[in-house]
Amino acid sequence: MFKINENYLKLPGSYLFSTIAKKVNAYQEANPEKDLIRLGIGDVTQPLAPSIIEALHGAVDEMAAAETFHGYAPDLGYEFLRNAIVDGDYRSRGAQIEADEIFVSDGAKCDSGNIQEIFAQDNKIAVCDPVYPVYVDTNVMAGRTGTYDPKSETWSDVIYMPCTAENNFAPEFPKEVPDIIYLCFPNNPTGSTITKDQLQGWVDYANKNGAVIIYDAAYEAYISEDDVAHTIYECEGARTCAIELKSFSKNAGFTGVRLGYAVVPKDLTCGDVKLHDLWARRHGTKYNGAPYIVQKAGAAVYSEAGKAQLKEQVGYYMNNARVIYEGLKDAGYTVSGGVNAPYIWLKTPDGMSSWDFFDHLLEHANVVGTPGSGFGPSGEGYFRLTAFGNYENTVKAIERIKNI
Ligand SMILES: *Cc1c(COP(=O)(O)O)cnc(C)c1O
Repeated sequence: MFKINENYLKLPGSYLFSTIAKKVNAYQEANPEKDLIRLGIGDVTQPLAPSIIEALHGAVDEMAAAETFHGYAPDLGYEFLRNAIVDGDYRSRGAQIEADEIFVSDGAKCDSGNIQEIFAQDNKIAVCDPVYPVYVDTNVMAGRTGTYDPKSETWSDVIYMPCTAENNFAPEFPKEVPDIIYLCFPNNPTGSTITKDQLQGWVDYANKNGAVIIYDAAYEAYISEDDVAHTIYECEGARTCAIELKSFSKNAGFTGVRLGYAVVPKDLTCGDVKLHDLWARRHGTKYNGAPYIVQKAGAAVYSEAGKAQLKEQVGYYMNNARVIYEGLKDAGYTVSGGVNAPYIWLKTPDGMSSWDFFDHLLEHANVVGTPGSGFGPSGEGYFRLTAFGNYENTVKAIERIKNI
C-alpha cells in the first residue's frame, strides 16, 4: 500500500489569491456595473518587445528545416545564451562569473523551489517576513520546517526576519544562526531594497557562519539607485557563500514564455564537495533544458536593440510606480517601495487590518490590491499595489483612491 508525502498535508492552504478572486467575483456579481481596476497580481501587462518577437520568429523558422532544427538543448543551456548572460549581467558589473557557472532554467520560481533539494534535511532556513511564499512552502514539502502554529502563522523550525517600517524593511541578522538564508532584493512584496554595503554585511555574515545565501534577484532590472548591487557577486566573498537566481519574467515580460537561470559558483563548497557539481547533477537528471526558441528569445534581451526596448518597458512600469507612490503620498498615506521595484507597500490607515483595507478599497474605489498579511505575519497592517498595470488604469485607480 503506497503512502503519500505527509509533509504536503502540513501546508496551510494558500488562500491569498483564491480568497482575493472569490471576494472580487462576489463583489462584481453584486455590482455588475462597477469597473474594477486590478493592481493586485504581480503579472506583467506589456507585450514582448519587438526584438524578442523577431528572435522568436527566427528560431521558429529554424525549427522547420532539418539543417537548423534543434532537439534537446544542452543540460546547462546553450553557450550563446550563457555567454550573453555572463557579459550582460556579470562582467559588465565587475563581477567574476564564468559561463559554466550559469544554469539556464524555465524560471526563478522553479529554481527557488528546487534548490533546497541539494541541502541536508536538518538545515535550518531563515526567511524575511513578509516573504515570497515559495521559499518556505518548498521547504515544508521537504520536511525541513517543523510544525506549523496557526495562531502565529509560523513554523517551529524556520527563522523569521521581520521586515517592517521600524527597520526600513531590511532584515537584521537573526539571533539564531541559520544554515540557509533566503534573500530577495529588490523585494517582493515590500518593494524596498538594501544597499550594496548592507548586502556585503550579509555576505560577510554567511562566510563567517558557514551559511549559504539563496539570492533572488528577479527585480534587478528595476534598480534605479547607485548604491544598490545588481548582483550579489558585486560583493567581495560572495563566490564562497551565494547562489543567485534570475528571471526573465519581470525585466522582459517572459512570465508566459518561461526562462530564468541560477548561478552556482565553483568556489561554493561544503567540505570538499562543490555545490556546483550537485546542482549540475540535479539539473542533468531532472531537467531537459529550456526550449531553443525561448533561449534565442532570451539572447535577444541582451542585444543592443533589446536592451533599449526593455529599458523603455521597465521605465513604463516605473512611471506607474511613481504615479502610485506620489498619488498615495499626496492623499496622506504612508508609502514605501516603488523606487527600485515595481511594488508599492503602504501602511493601512487608522490601524485597519490588511483584509479590512482590501474590502475598503474594493468597495469604495473599486480597486483590487493585495493584503500584506498574505505574505507573512509581519505584513499585517500593510498592503501591496503593483505597477504592472497599464498607465491609464493606474492613473484612474489612484484618482479613485484619492477621492474616497
Ligand atoms: C516573479 C518572481 C519570480 C520569478 O518567477 P519566474 O518563475 O521566473 O516567473 C521569482 N521570485 C520572486 C520574488 C518573484 O516575485
